[in-house]
Amino acid sequence: MNLNSEKQTPQVLSGREVSQQVQSEIIEQMDKWKVLGQKPPHLVVILVGEDPASQVYVGHKEKMCHKLGFQSQVIKLPSTISQSDLITMIQKLNSTSEVDALMVQLPLPQHLNTQSVLQTISPQKDADCLTESNLGRLLTGHAFVKPCTPAGILEMLKFYKIDLEGKKVAVVGRSLIVGIPLFHLLTQKNATVTLFHSKSLDLRAQLKNFDLVCVATGAINEIKSSDLKSDAILIDVGIHRRDQKICGDVQLDQSNHLKAYTPVPGGVGVMTIAMLMKNTLQLATLNRKLN
Ligand code: NDP
Repeated sequence: MNLNSEKQTPQVLSGREVSQQVQSEIIEQMDKWKVLGQKPPHLVVILVGEDPASQVYVGHKEKMCHKLGFQSQVIKLPSTISQSDLITMIQKLNSTSEVDALMVQLPLPQHLNTQSVLQTISPQKDADCLTESNLGRLLTGHAFVKPCTPAGILEMLKFYKIDLEGKKVAVVGRSLIVGIPLFHLLTQKNATVTLFHSKSLDLRAQLKNFDLVCVATGAINEIKSSDLKSDAILIDVGIHRRDQKICGDVQLDQSNHLKAYTPVPGGVGVMTIAMLMKNTLQLATLNRKLN
């Protein structure tokens, strides 16, 4: 897609469509594995406590594993689990060759130290690229796998042939799970990327300067589509449940003048799960030395 072309009806960048393609590629790979007599990839998700949103997300992951023929296991732990018991559990999962990929569903209960827990995961089983080792590898372009949400965004941009080279891109939000890795992945694609956060001054006024704007703030409706220039592309990472409906971080104005945008639901969130599956397959390939 040419970011500089004439005004037109905004294109919906469908995560569902791109996810279908990713799933087809995985199924193709799985067929080859069957011929080789390999067991399906095995993903373990650790869920601590009973956060309702986390339960929903974990349910989606299980369902997708089932659909693709992966082995999946959700280890449900009480919210009262101690840091040391949780770490011991992760160490056991690290050491068994039965498990290919591992992730801890966030957020964790407050008494647990999230960073210490995440850093216990073996980098070679780190399905969401959250260990310091893998984040470091990401900067050099050598991560075992890329973080699911930013990788899903890059996959969508590739699918829709959105040219990034030399383009002005804004990433709003600097979390280690979305904003920071997204900044690096876009930079590696030769975009000129600016990273904004809650202390950025005049954010909304500045957004008019960008061809592509990726928003991952968790702040609902603070940015509006009219803050973006005509014919910009919007990637909305946010997920909020409001009045029984799901919406993103960005408010889409009636007179949506954008060139293209990701819907919520059906955009980035769908891709996050697809990329988790891709990462699981990739880690299984690596750990079983099938390359
Ligand atoms: P975090 O809360 O970890 O980080 C939010 C970031 O946004 C911070 O860097 C913060 O800045 C910045 N920020 C907050 N408010 C503003 C504001 N008003 N203006 C500019 N910057 C702001 O969130 P996550 O990155 O984990 O998630 C962001 C959103 O994406 C959420 O809605 C979440 O639900 C969603 N999400 C969706 C996923 C998907 O699969 N679609 C996956 C992961 C997250 P500062 O650093 O200064 O505090």
